[in-house]
Amino acid sequence: MTNFLKKLFSKSQESSTPVFHVDKQDISRESSTALYEKAKNYFPGGVNSPVRAFKSVYGTPLFIEKGDGCYLWDADGNQFIDFCCSWGPLILGHNHPKIREKVTEVMQNGMSFGAPTALENELAELILKNNSYLEKIRFVSSGTEAVMSAIRLARGYTKRDKILKFEGCYHGHVDALLVKAGSGLVTFGETSSAGIPKSFADETIVVPLNDMKAVKEAFKQFKNQLAAVIIEGVPANNGLLIQDQSFVEFLRDICTKNKTLLIFDEVISGFRIGFEGAAGYYQVKPDIVTYGKIIGGGLPVGAYGASAEIMGNISPEGPVYQAGTLSGNPVAMAAGIAQLSELAKPGFYKELNAKAAEFVESIQRYADTHNYTFKVFRVGSIFWFAFTDQTIQTAEAIDPASMDKFKIMHRELLNRGVYLGPSGYEVGFVSAAHSKIDLEKAKRAIFECLDIVFKK
Ligand SMILES: *Cc1c(COP(=O)(O)O)cnc(C)c1O
Repeated sequence: MTNFLKKLFSKSQESSTPVFHVDKQDISRESSTALYEKAKNYFPGGVNSPVRAFKSVYGTPLFIEKGDGCYLWDADGNQFIDFCCSWGPLILGHNHPKIREKVTEVMQNGMSFGAPTALENELAELILKNNSYLEKIRFVSSGTEAVMSAIRLARGYTKRDKILKFEGCYHGHVDALLVKAGSGLVTFGETSSAGIPKSFADETIVVPLNDMKAVKEAFKQFKNQLAAVIIEGVPANNGLLIQDQSFVEFLRDICTKNKTLLIFDEVISGFRIGFEGAAGYYQVKPDIVTYGKIIGGGLPVGAYGASAEIMGNISPEGPVYQAGTLSGNPVAMAAGIAQLSELAKPGFYKELNAKAAEFVESIQRYADTHNYTFKVFRVGSIFWFAFTDQTIQTAEAIDPASMDKFKIMHRELLNRGVYLGPSGYEVGFVSAAHSKIDLEKAKRAIFECLDIVFKK
């Protein structure tokens, strides 16, 4: 027995306080820390995307060296079961052989031509054949680009300027949508980033999620001015805020009545909760859909799609301009084709979603048995750990103080070989590469961490 354990043990006997679970030694981060120090000389905050900087969890960011299946290895040789999955794209896990082979094969013929290729047709056909909500699509290179273009299309089509968005939905770093709610029920947005003119934010109206009254009020106040209502099909960027079926149907209805377009931002939910994403899940037809993440199989691809009539407004067919040097490049298309071909196989989602459900349910059972104030929200293979006993459907319902518990959970999970995104507002993903044995291992670590968080 180490001195530390002896001390703890004897102390607990003396004072008859319970023996607390002894936290595992923190994992070594020597190499990651050195790389991070170096990176800080090159990049603002040492990173190329802010959430990677581990600002809301303990320690310095882990630098990743390798991924395979559901596993990640960092620069110090630590191995993790990964539930971040590159923030969603890797629904088949890391380094899937079919994707790697297809990409390498296509690369033999060159990487970009700035001219059409058959591969674009192939990916488009694969998507449109298996999706009853879209007739035409345009490929871009990121989710942000897809949303930005969809907004321009909605404005061009309706000849209106204002956009309605929901507090707690993230749509990439588009100027018009980096906007948060002000203080009233229906408010002009306030910018949530420096560098966005106030006049831009004035074109964006922000209301709470799952709130029909607020949406009705906005339509009344801005009659004939709303070009589009944009919502994440399943809001999954600020916790997992699952909306009522009736609310989604209500949005469809009020948009139709007011000739406002309904945009589903399916950058996370698309090809995740089913091949047809949230549209298929709710069986509600949006006017425009945006994709990213999974569609590129780990390479940078985004897309937006709609009816042939609406898409006919995009240049060169119509007056709404949108272009891209590397849009639809063969390498990215190859990755998308390889990944989506697997997803289109019968039974893929049924199996994945059942596996995720079983995983989440047994964690919930453990928490309930021990009376822990802890809920796991889930749709398909997306899950969110929340330290609450409430049903959470709006951004406002999330208690910021509960994030202290997530911080401990995150550190202790890393110490036990489980990698979650470094923020309690982020969701996790189960991939097809997580075997039942991997999930059993992860569960055991999660149980131990819950005990520590709640100081059993
Ligand atoms: C990730 C995300 C985006 C932005 O996509 P990027 O590829 O990071 O630009 C937009 N909308 C939603 C719903 C997202 O989850």
